[in-house]
Amino acid sequence: MTSTLEPSGAAPAPDGQAGTSGAAGSPGSGGPNGGPPGPGSTRPTGSVRPTGSDGSTNSTGAPHATGFTGSPGPAGAAVPDTATGSGPAVLAGVDIGGTTTQVVLCSTGLDVLDRVELPTPAAEGGRAMIGTVLDGLRLLLGRHPARLAGVGVGAAGVVDAGTGRILVASDSFTDWAGFAVTATLEASLGVPAFLDNDVNAFLRGEVAKGAVAGERHVLGMTLGTGVGGALWMDGALHDGPHGAAGEIGHIPGFGDIPCTCGGRGHLETLAAGRSLAARYAERTGRSTDARGVAQAAQDGDPEALAVFTAAGAGIARALLITAGLVDVTTVVIGGGVSRAWSLLEPAVQAALAAEPPVSGQPIRLVPSLLGSDAVAVGAASRARSALTAATAGLG
Ligand SMILES: [Zn+2]
Repeated sequence: MTSTLEPSGAAPAPDGQAGTSGAAGSPGSGGPNGGPPGPGSTRPTGSVRPTGSDGSTNSTGAPHATGFTGSPGPAGAAVPDTATGSGPAVLAGVDIGGTTTQVVLCSTGLDVLDRVELPTPAAEGGRAMIGTVLDGLRLLLGRHPARLAGVGVGAAGVVDAGTGRILVASDSFTDWAGFAVTATLEASLGVPAFLDNDVNAFLRGEVAKGAVAGERHVLGMTLGTGVGGALWMDGALHDGPHGAAGEIGHIPGFGDIPCTCGGRGHLETLAAGRSLAARYAERTGRSTDARGVAQAAQDGDPEALAVFTAAGAGIARALLITAGLVDVTTVVIGGGVSRAWSLLEPAVQAALAAEPPVSGQPIRLVPSLLGSDAVAVGAASRARSALTAATAGLG
C-alpha cells in the first residue's frame, strides 16, 4: 500500500475525473494524487501559506476523544469552531503528499463542501506538516462555520493505522517517520483523528463516494510515480497482518528490471510514471517525463506506444493475478498516470480478452471518480465509520 511521493509522472490528460464533488483536474503524482492541477482545474488552490501555527505541542498521550461532540483538547494551534463550534457537524479529510497537502471539509454524507491545497513543508518536519493541516482547516472552517466531528488523514508511506503514527516515510520527508499524527491533531483540535495509508484512503474514498460506490470486492490501483494497491474485500478494507495486502506494484514476475523497492521485475518497473520515462529513454536515448512519453505516444511515436503497451500488458497481468487469488469484480485506477488511460486501456483490455480470469467473469475497470479528492474523502470516510461505530449515529 505504499506509494511513492514525487510529483512527476503525470501524463497529458483529458481530466476525465470530475466527480460529484466537483473535483476536476486530478494532479499527477506517485501516490493517488499530488502535483500540479491539470488543465481545466477549478479548484481553489492554496493561496495560503502556512503561517507557522504549529499545534503539535503534545505528540504523546493526547486524550482520545470519543463520540461526536468531542471535547476540547490541550491547547495547540487555535483552530476556531471545532469541537465546540456551532452549526452542522462536518468531517475533515486530509491528504498529505510529498508536494501538496489537501484538506477537504465534508458533510456527514461525505459530500465535499470545500477544499484547500497547500504546499507540504516536507523538509521542515512533522510539526510543520501538521501545522499546515491546521492552517488548511482554519481556513475552511472560517468559510464554513461548523462543528468538526473528526479528522481523517491519508499519508504516503507506511503507517500504523492503529497508533496513528507514520512508520516509514520517503527520504523527502524530514522528521516524519515515527511522528504521532493522530495524537498531535487530537491535542490541537480536541476531536478524534484517524490515519491511513494514502492508497488505502484512495480506495476507501472511491468505495464510499466514488467510482465503485457500494461495491464489495475491489482492487484499488494507483499509477503515479510509483504503483500502489489496496484491497476491499467483502465490503471492508483488507490490510493484512503487515499492512501489505494488495501491494500489487511490488510482486515479481514482470521482467527483470530493478525496482525502487530493491526487488526486481515488479509491476512498478513498467507502469509507474518514472518507469514509463525510463523505459522510453532506454529505447530511444531521449530523456523526458511520463507526460512527455504520453504526448509522444499520442503523436504516434512507436517507441512511446510500445512503452504504454508494455505497461498495459503488465497491468492486465497484475489484475489477472489478483482476480485469480481473491476474485475481485472491479478495479478502480487512480494516480497521475491513469489520466493517460486512453493509451493504457487498449493493451490492458487486449490482454484481459486474450486470457480471461479463471472465474469466467470479466473484470470491470473504472477510472477514479473523485480524482484528487479521493484520498481526503476516503480519510474522512474512515473517520465517519469509526465515529459512527462509536456513537451509533451522527449528531
Ligand atoms: Zn518493487
